[in-house]
Parts: sequence; C-alpha cells; structure tokens
Amino acid sequence: MTSREIRAAFLEYFQSKSHHIVPSAPVVVKNDPTLMFTNAGMNQFKELFLGEAAVKYPRVADTQRCLRVSGKHNDLEEVGIDTYHHTLFEMLGNWSFGDYFKKEAIEWAWELLTEVLKLDKDRLYVTIFEGDASENLERDSEAFNFWKAHIAEDRILLGNKKDNFWEMGDQGPCGPCSEIHFDMRSNEERAAVKGQDLVNADHPQVIEIWNLVFMQFNRLKNGSLEHLPNKHVDTGMGFERLVRCIQGKTSNYDTDVFQPLIQYISEKSGIPYGQDEKTDIAMRVLSDHIRAVSFAIADGQLPSNNKAGYVIRRILRRAVRYAYTFLNFKNPFFHELVPVLAAQFKGVFDELYAQQDFVEKVILEEEVSFLRTLTTGIQRFENYAEGNQVIDGDFAFELFDTYGFPIDLTDLLAREKGLYVDMEAFDKALQAQKDRSRAATTIDTGDWVTVSDIDESEFVGYDSLTANTEIIKYRKV
Ligand code: ATP
Ligand code: MG
Ligand code: MG
Ligand code: MG
Repeated sequence: MTSREIRAAFLEYFQSKSHHIVPSAPVVVKNDPTLMFTNAGMNQFKELFLGEAAVKYPRVADTQRCLRVSGKHNDLEEVGIDTYHHTLFEMLGNWSFGDYFKKEAIEWAWELLTEVLKLDKDRLYVTIFEGDASENLERDSEAFNFWKAHIAEDRILLGNKKDNFWEMGDQGPCGPCSEIHFDMRSNEERAAVKGQDLVNADHPQVIEIWNLVFMQFNRLKNGSLEHLPNKHVDTGMGFERLVRCIQGKTSNYDTDVFQPLIQYISEKSGIPYGQDEKTDIAMRVLSDHIRAVSFAIADGQLPSNNKAGYVIRRILRRAVRYAYTFLNFKNPFFHELVPVLAAQFKGVFDELYAQQDFVEKVILEEEVSFLRTLTTGIQRFENYAEGNQVIDGDFAFELFDTYGFPIDLTDLLAREKGLYVDMEAFDKALQAQKDRSRAATTIDTGDWVTVSDIDESEFVGYDSLTANTEIIKYRKV
C-alpha cells in the first residue's frame, strides 16, 4: 500500500464506524499560553475534554500534523540520528467524547491493524497500565481482558505510570493508556526476547506505533483523582511509523513518505543515500526539517528572533548547516525542497500547496542571510589559519558563538588544512558561557516557558550579529 492509501484506509475505517472526519488544526498555536505548537491530535479537542465546549460529534477521527520541538515533547536532537522520531509528523487519531470506551477502541484498533492493514499479528504486542499503589490505582484489567480476546496473554505487557498513564497537565482529565508496538527484528532475534522483556527491548526495530488513552479520571487541584462522569477515548498513531511497518522498511525514511525528498537531495548533491552514515544523517535531517519549517510558515509562523519564530529559525538553520557541512551545498538549496513536499501533500494538507511560492521565498531569504554569516565566519577562519598550527579553544568558541559554527564544522575546516582544534579549551570556553547564561536566567522570567527548553548544547550565538543580542544570548537553560 502507498502512504496515501494507508492514510485513506485509516480515515475510511473510522468513518465506517460512524466517526466524523475533521481537518487537521494548524501546527502553530496562537491562543494557548501553555503551548507553542500542536504536539498531539488531542490539542484541538482540549476544551471538549475539559467540559468547556459542547460536543457536536461524539466520534471524531483525523490526521493531525504535529510538531515536537519544544516543551514537554522535544524530539529535535533525535531527528535524523534515529529513524522514527520526526520534528513534524502526522498523528492519526480517533476520539470518543463520552461515547464508546475501552472495548470498542481496542477492538477497532486491532481490526484495523490486522484485518484492514494486514500487519503481522506475531510482530505486534501491547502494553497496559500496571497500576500504582501510591495513588491507589489498580492495574487496568479491563483493558487486559479486552486485549485477551485478540492477542495471546504473553504479548500483553505491563507498563508503568510514566508510559501508561496519561495526564493533560497538573489538573484535568487523565487515565490509563494502552500502547501498541511493532517488532521488526529478525525471527531469531525475536525468539530470544519474550514476555515482559520486550518492553525493555530498547531496540531501534521495536517501535511504538499507537497509543490508546482512556480518560476516566479527573485530577483535582489538590492532586486527588475523581472518576469522570463521561469517559473519553483519545488515540494517536504515528503515520510515518505505521507506513514503515506496512511497507516492511527498517527506517521511516525508506518509505514513500520521505523517499521523494531523499532522492531529490541525493540527486542534487551527487551523493547516494545509504553510502555513509554522516551524509545519510544529513539527508534525513533535511528531508525531515523541510516539513517542519514549511508547515510552520504555511500555518502562519515566520522564522524570527523570538518565541515560536525563533524555534523555527533554529530548525531551518540546523538544516542549512547540515547541508553546508556534510552535503557540500555552499549555495541556497533547502528552499528547493518546498515544491517536492507541496506536491506530496496535495489533497492532504493543501495549505502548503496553496502557499508554495511564499514559503519557498521565505526559506530562500533565510538561507541567503544565514549563509552570509557562515561565509564571513569562514573568512575569519581562513585568516586565522594562516598563522596558526592549532585552532585554539577561544577562537573555535568565537566561531561557534558569533558565527554559528558547530564545532564539527570548525573541526572539518581545520582537518582540511592539516590543523587540529584544541577541543579541551573549546569545551572550557563553552562551559564558561553556559555558567554565565545560567547566572543570567533571571532575566528570562517573562519569557514563554517552553523556549527555555531548547537544548543548551545547540548553538545560539549567530543572533549576536543582530540587534537582539542580549535577549537571544540569555534565553537559555
Ligand atoms: P516515543 O515513546 O516513541 O517517543 P511517545 O510515547 O512520545 O512516542 P505519544 O505521545 O504516545 O508518543 O504519541 C502517539 C504516537 O505518535 C506514538 O505512538 C508514535 O507513533 C507517534 N510519535 C510520537 N512522537 C513522534 C515523533 N517525534 N515522530 C514521529 N512519530 C511520533
Ligand atoms: Mg516521545
Ligand atoms: Mg512512548
Ligand atoms: Mg506513547
């Protein structure tokens, strides 16, 4: 099945179970101070769960574009390194607002995966909430019993509160969840690990595909739990992961979701995909990041120097850096991926197709300005390298801090000239800066909370070339 067919099959299946299909909400969130970007399918239904809005359709399904690059869910650093965490991904979901509950949710998930989508039953396993004595929460034996009708008991495993009890926040609806995992390891490898050990497999070919949340409690202000009068179902399935399992690939990037982008990058760089880990990672980063950046812009968030705009600018520059350093793109290239992406999402998320030229133009402008900074930095490097054998730590740090050179890039430039970087001194300078920013965090208090979650090891200094020096440099840790 193609990815288009798989997406359609999901929506058609739930439509056949009387679900109303709704459009994806934008990935940019404008009216919720606790959230910058949509990070789960349930976001747009938050008010329904909180009882703040009337339920029009008790059964709903959709595919929601989600971005996990800030706040509670920040997967950015995994992206490109592993093969199943993306910045932007589609979360397929079905919901019951006070309508059906565990029995149907489990039955339908199983039927869809195994009968409609024909996933190998022997590679599926599920988890249920094991309970939590400190809160007097029992094991979810209801879910266990419903699963038992479909799957062997030794493939129903126990999960702890962290993985199998979902909460919206400190207060509000919450409840146990059941996760569905797919195991793509070889038969021999699978035979060696059974039962509860599967949960701890921590293997790149054993991946979570679907999370079924059963909201049956409400957490009160004082921390205690009460039963909800109306119980809800909230599910989320990673579309790109599902496609990978159905298409029998060992990486999301090998599916038809990402291949058109990867092939385009490979062609234009003249480097085959699958040749070398470093260039492969770079191609994965580019093909992933173009999705996040393009949809953020199409949904109304331009790259900028603060808050959500800054997160998008960083993702964009991360991609340009990878393109420049590992794929040898010295001129703007990233924007060229927009038409490839827009064509892919035509008829799915037309927002991008409709604004393709604008999105492309914004990215091109960003690229031009960032590459200029990179070029100036390289000139500085060339001058320095003339008279020195070793790139000392302070200079490497200056390149990092002022010109946005990741240490990888400086190292690469140095090695090309037969020089080396004093890494120890660089680390020291970096640490000193971290200490300074930590001391300065008090300036940060008025800022949007999630911005401070940006990984501190990522470079932030290029904006010191702009007027916003202070704000940017201290928005840390
Ligand atoms: P993981 O443990 O793999 O990080 P999760 O438990 O954080 O996933 P959920 O919050 O349960 O994910 O989201 C529901 C589903 O969305 C997951 O089962 C997974 O299939 C998918 N998903 C979550 N994060 C990502 C991501 N960064 N990229 C692609 N798919 C994702
Ligand atoms: Mg996660
Ligand atoms: Mg998980
Ligand atoms: Mg999960």
